[in-house]
Amino acid sequence: MARILITSAIPYINGIKHLGNLVGSMLPADLYARYMRARGHEVMFICATDEHGTPAELAAAKAGKPVAEYCAEMWQVQKDLGDGFRLSFDKFGRSSSPQNHRLTQYFAGRLAENGLIEEVTEKQVYSNADGRFLPDRYIEGTCPNCGYDKARGDQCENCTKQLDPTDLIDPRSAISGSTDLEVRETKHLYLRQSALKDELDAWIDRQKDWPILTTSIAKKWLHDGDGLRDRGITRDLDWGVPVKKGDADWPGMEGKVFYVWFDAPIEYIAATKEWADASDRPDKDWRRWWRTDEGAQDVRYVQFMGKDNVPFHTLSFPATIIGSGEPWKLVDYIKSFNYLNYDGGQFSTSQGRGVFMDQALSILPADYWRWWLLSHAPENSDSEFTWENFQASVNKDLADVLGNFVSRVTKFCRSKFGETVPEGGAYGPREEALIADLQTRLSAYEAHMEAIEIRKAATELRAIWAAGNEYLQDAAPWAVFKEDPAQAAAIVRLSLNLIRLYAALSSPFIPEASATLTEALGLTEPPWPDTIAEAATALPPGHAFSVPENLFRKISDEEREDWQERFAGGRA
Ligand SMILES: [Zn+2]
Repeated sequence: MARILITSAIPYINGIKHLGNLVGSMLPADLYARYMRARGHEVMFICATDEHGTPAELAAAKAGKPVAEYCAEMWQVQKDLGDGFRLSFDKFGRSSSPQNHRLTQYFAGRLAENGLIEEVTEKQVYSNADGRFLPDRYIEGTCPNCGYDKARGDQCENCTKQLDPTDLIDPRSAISGSTDLEVRETKHLYLRQSALKDELDAWIDRQKDWPILTTSIAKKWLHDGDGLRDRGITRDLDWGVPVKKGDADWPGMEGKVFYVWFDAPIEYIAATKEWADASDRPDKDWRRWWRTDEGAQDVRYVQFMGKDNVPFHTLSFPATIIGSGEPWKLVDYIKSFNYLNYDGGQFSTSQGRGVFMDQALSILPADYWRWWLLSHAPENSDSEFTWENFQASVNKDLADVLGNFVSRVTKFCRSKFGETVPEGGAYGPREEALIADLQTRLSAYEAHMEAIEIRKAATELRAIWAAGNEYLQDAAPWAVFKEDPAQAAAIVRLSLNLIRLYAALSSPFIPEASATLTEALGLTEPPWPDTIAEAATALPPGHAFSVPENLFRKISDEEREDWQERFAGGRA
């Protein structure tokens, strides 16, 4: 048994995620976690909400709520939707947790002790009326380029020109509207990533099995232009982790918080502590996943994320870990994804274009989405969701292949032999051939799942379902029954055992259908098969079952057209 630590990139707090976000990290991470658990490994699967930063403050202000209250509510919304999609996190934490505050301050203290933090004095806009420094996007004014009067200090939304706050004509605070602004000197902390460049470079060179997509992005940031730049890790905000050096105050940094990108990945570790604390476990229970001197030396750590998150996970977060000088666990494998597009364009949160997690569950059960998204995961290139493809895939793979097999076998058995596994007859050459074929396919399926080749694994699973259907069609127990009921019983017996096999093999992709099949067979959990030969006789004659009704239904053309129109854009 191995120990596998799995983290999904943590979704930002300001709103409900769309299906592109879901398939870009959380859902494939869940697939892998479920598979590894099914194989008997010890898994720790962590996700959380990413709650700090300016967008959270702005979203809370828009909702007319204090930011802490807004984040608490949105965390619950995202947690419930994750549950709805059957995402099997061991902990869905919050980056605003006290655990993450302390750990972030701890890492900052370690980095400072190791000479990797530089204090830099900068000039920044201060609002006397608000009593605070203003981040660039909290300053509004007239664009010097186009004259738009609501341009922000970082960029004009109207003409897209990048701006400095001092470029704005008649600048004012976006918080209070006050024009009583002045430029003051202020101090910020920089993480000296440049000092860690060679160590990071060598570490990435040692990752022989990483996908090209991952290493090429990291190498680009390490070597292009001036190479890896030092990174500002503090901001002038109210909402965030207060800047401290471990437990101690940091002179000159009063009223400042750590930049969200510094504290967010540390939340992977902190959420594991949140998991332990929530069930009164001692610290050693979470540290054995994260400290290579306290048990994590045999842990395999796999991260899932969209390609836009790769630089932070291959450079910034490892810089924090390596720079601490302590034996914290570094990632062993990064699985990154391209983008899922929506019906000829992009998913857009701001324009409400595409299908969002809450909407998806309001029209169909989680398994339908899980199957389509995973079997079309944007692994090697961007992929596209279209309603035609979704309808075809659900109707064919789930309803015609898997659903139809289960329905025919169980209903035929009930009508001829009753609701128990029938006895009599024996497996012959046709059955032996099927068992051999499925054994080959099982090995391929397992290999793809181990390698996190998600589309290939889905293709193999579909072929495993199809093999059962083809067998049933060829063996034709309804015809055999008239001449040789015992032989028909053997065919049905094998087919019922295939349903048990499918319940096990399908569980990482479609856990709800898998649970329905498991229950219909009167089992608590179908074990992963050692061999197909053994699985083919696991249910003995006389074992009772029930007929599962409507495992999957088909999507009609009318529904498809209706949904296509509904989700074209304009979500409020
Ligand atoms: Zn402009």
